[in-house]
Amino acid sequence: MAEEVKKKRLTDIGPHDYNEYLSPVIKNNYGKWAYHEILDPGTMVHVAESGDKLYTVRMGSPRLVSGSFVRDICDIADKYCGGHLRFTTRNNVEFLIEDEKNVEPLKKDLEKMGYNVGGIGNIVANIVHTQGWVHCHTSASDASGVVKSVMDELYEYFVEDKLPSKVRIAFACCLNMCGSVSSSDIAIVGTHRKPPRIDAERLRNLCEIPSTIAACPTNSIRPDTVDGKPGVKVNEETCVFCGSCYTVCPAMPIANAENDGLSIWVGGKVSNARTKPTFSKLAIPFIPNDPPRWPGVVNAVKTILNEYKKGAEPGERVGEWIDRIGWPRFFKITGFPFTKYHIDDFRLGETTMNYSSHARL
Ligand code: SF4
Ligand code: SF4
Repeated sequence: MAEEVKKKRLTDIGPHDYNEYLSPVIKNNYGKWAYHEILDPGTMVHVAESGDKLYTVRMGSPRLVSGSFVRDICDIADKYCGGHLRFTTRNNVEFLIEDEKNVEPLKKDLEKMGYNVGGIGNIVANIVHTQGWVHCHTSASDASGVVKSVMDELYEYFVEDKLPSKVRIAFACCLNMCGSVSSSDIAIVGTHRKPPRIDAERLRNLCEIPSTIAACPTNSIRPDTVDGKPGVKVNEETCVFCGSCYTVCPAMPIANAENDGLSIWVGGKVSNARTKPTFSKLAIPFIPNDPPRWPGVVNAVKTILNEYKKGAEPGERVGEWIDRIGWPRFFKITGFPFTKYHIDDFRLGETTMNYSSHARL
């Protein structure tokens, strides 16, 4: 029986070759595109050297989707796009259309189904985000709930081209920073404010003590003897509540309903256009979790976006705008208090990183 199963097992086959799923117009013009134009914040056209055209309609998605959502978008792709669609790197859906006549009917169908077309140009595109309370054990906040609350308020910036440049917003529910919070125009990051709790009995049975000690970036964990048996102790004076120890040792839980919340970071980017890529830097150290609509976070993001929209030059990203006006002015016009938490005191970072994500004074 085991031999039978082994024979049937298919392994190391990798993903499907993307060529299998390209539409004919893409296959025929692969690598031979001449230019593209943005027709409106949800539509663009690529023109090939051959004169062929490919229209793209981009639609927002909540990323966490059901089977019926996938079936809906497949039906639209079957009706208008010869069965072809793709997802973008920010989890938007793109419908690829060869016949221009299908563009407007497709958009009307999406509207009827309650889906939003947008996300191209000087806009707020989808928020790159993480698992939150839906699925991860180390989160300090929820991803899907915060993202829905923020995008509801920023809807106009997804569907209309109204900003000086594109604004990338990202969310991560803990300092592991899955995704792109370290390099986004505006980043929302889950944060703890209390040290881990130690369950000595479980720790002995569940955790490898040396790797738990090595996981701490501030050397706050030391070996200890508890009830005559091996254990650890935490120096609460130097612990920065990063949660790294809990990631490797399930007997050091750190989540705390009253003290967990979110921080806001600004000014990061990954592109090399005009200025070099930069890390996001701390703007607000802590906003309490306030589900289901997180008004504190929503207001903070709107404040940053409004001041940026008023003050930035055309083409300037959030970080470039702040660099030009200076951090003191940024804190003044946003009204965010500048605190001791904004000043970098992570000594290890001085030798190991070119840039940290804190202000250097
Ligand atoms: S950011 Fe942290 S909590 Fe969120 S998915 Fe990643 S590891 Fe989990
Ligand atoms: S939470 Fe972070 S800083 Fe605190 S003990 Fe654990 S690993 Fe160290």
